[in-house]
Amino acid sequence: MNKIVFKLFIGILFLSFISCNQTNQKSKQADEIKLTSTELVKEVMTKQAQENMTPDEALKDLMKGNERYVSGELINRDLPAQVEATTNGQYPKAVVLACIDSRVPVEYIFDQGIGDMFVVRVAGNIEDEELLGSMEYGVGVAGSKLIMVLGHENCGAVKSGINQVDVGSENVDALLSHLEQAIQEVEGERNAKNKKYFDDVVKNNVDQTVEDIRNKSAIISGLEKEGKIKVVGAYYSLTDGKVTILENGSHSHPEH
Ligand SMILES: [Zn+2]
Repeated sequence: MNKIVFKLFIGILFLSFISCNQTNQKSKQADEIKLTSTELVKEVMTKQAQENMTPDEALKDLMKGNERYVSGELINRDLPAQVEATTNGQYPKAVVLACIDSRVPVEYIFDQGIGDMFVVRVAGNIEDEELLGSMEYGVGVAGSKLIMVLGHENCGAVKSGINQVDVGSENVDALLSHLEQAIQEVEGERNAKNKKYFDDVVKNNVDQTVEDIRNKSAIISGLEKEGKIKVVGAYYSLTDGKVTILENGSHSHPEH
């Protein structure tokens, strides 16, 4: 652990060095800009904007982006300009751990641009050492304010776990084994055709991943205890594109 803290410290020093050498930092955030239908947003997250953002504001920013996505009123971005503006540095507001599912395009569903968020993707949005390391980098070195674990409706990985699918691959077995505890904790017949049961397992798996992240990463839980970051679970509906924040244990009270 001391080794990791040391590496993060060196990383922070390195990033500070890079940021001191950046020029033309712009401070406007996308949501501060009065948009018209023809206006292209060129601005990107800056060090200043990231530093000024609280964990709650980062979450609000993502949820407002999801509202725009659902209503079809996405921000019109000048992507080549954003590419240019982020060449020498990045100050993402959030880290999202999501499934690989092609129907969950993470930047789209939160209406975010280049440099706005780290996206960690793995089937079934589970965690392991490498994924934890990626998330620790996001919040511990690069200064993001939020970690969101995003599960989704009708998740193929969760379904395969429930159905104990055997494709004759140790790699797939290893992946699905991460889901087993979340499956076993949910009461009811182990049957993915039962929509409520399936959804409850998806949500319990999100809760489980959030809990594992806190338990296995002293860096992340430490930053959270200090109020510098927030870790939240969320559920994405394939039906209507909406993201819902999950309170711990909400899977057993879906009406909340
Ligand atoms: Zn999935």
